[in-house]
Amino acid sequence: MIPKDHPRYESLVLRARIVEASKAGILADSAMIAHGRGEAFDYLIGEKTTQNAKEAVKAAAAALILAEHPVVSVNGNTTALVSEDIVRLSNTLKAPIEINLFYRTPQRVEKIEKILKEKGAKNVLGVENEKKGLIKGLKGPRANASFEGVYKADVVLVPLEDGDRAEALVANGKTVITIDLNPLSRTAKTSFVTIVDNVVRAIPLITEEVKKLRNCDETELRNILNNFDNSLNLEKSLKIISKTYADEKP
Ligand code: ATP
Ligand code: MG
Repeated sequence: MIPKDHPRYESLVLRARIVEASKAGILADSAMIAHGRGEAFDYLIGEKTTQNAKEAVKAAAAALILAEHPVVSVNGNTTALVSEDIVRLSNTLKAPIEINLFYRTPQRVEKIEKILKEKGAKNVLGVENEKKGLIKGLKGPRANASFEGVYKADVVLVPLEDGDRAEALVANGKTVITIDLNPLSRTAKTSFVTIVDNVVRAIPLITEEVKKLRNCDETELRNILNNFDNSLNLEKSLKIISKTYADEKP
């Protein structure tokens, strides 16, 4: 039990969720390493949603509302950390959730599907025995995407995506939105919108923003997108990282 007054309470709660999920067999061995890297960047941005992450959230929401076939992709870490909020977002958007694992095993897919369905997911794709389409530019099982999901999608939300796949998705014509605490990752640089924030904070904010913006007319939504510059937004995150602790004495 983590004491609530522990100065690193939030961070430790997330760590515990990752450890539990690992024990439950929904994570690959490397998942903890990915989480650790995320923790380090979260520390550097001050473990809160920055103003420019909020701007990216707004652009992400506009793109998802404008999409004809939006899809929310999940991996093991995202499921372990924010499955309920992922389901809420997918239901708000009426968009399917697609399970997309770097190290895919049928057992892990089945466990993740079960968790999402228990939380109320209506349409879970990326499961076994399903029609698949190929994402060009990727090799092996990672090239597979659900035909009705990412393959057909125009806009994909892919939190914690690997750089290779993000690049391939962009090359295949998808509008890629990612959530990645590392503003220097290939995924962050390649995506159309990168939300530099923790998935646990970003996903509920996207849902809120979708609810706020969904009655706006198309021109207004397109304006939000046109005014968003991902490289500039990433630069702002890097500035925040270099300034967060600059004024603090050790
Ligand atoms: P890339 O392949 O894009 O160059 P990478 O190989 O450095 O990135 P991966 O291991 O592919 O990184 O993906 C993990 C990424 O997810 C890391 O950039 C890490 O900062 C980020 N990350 C980990 N946990 C979280 C989290 N809870 N919220 C947001 N981002 C996270
Ligand atoms: Mg990678």
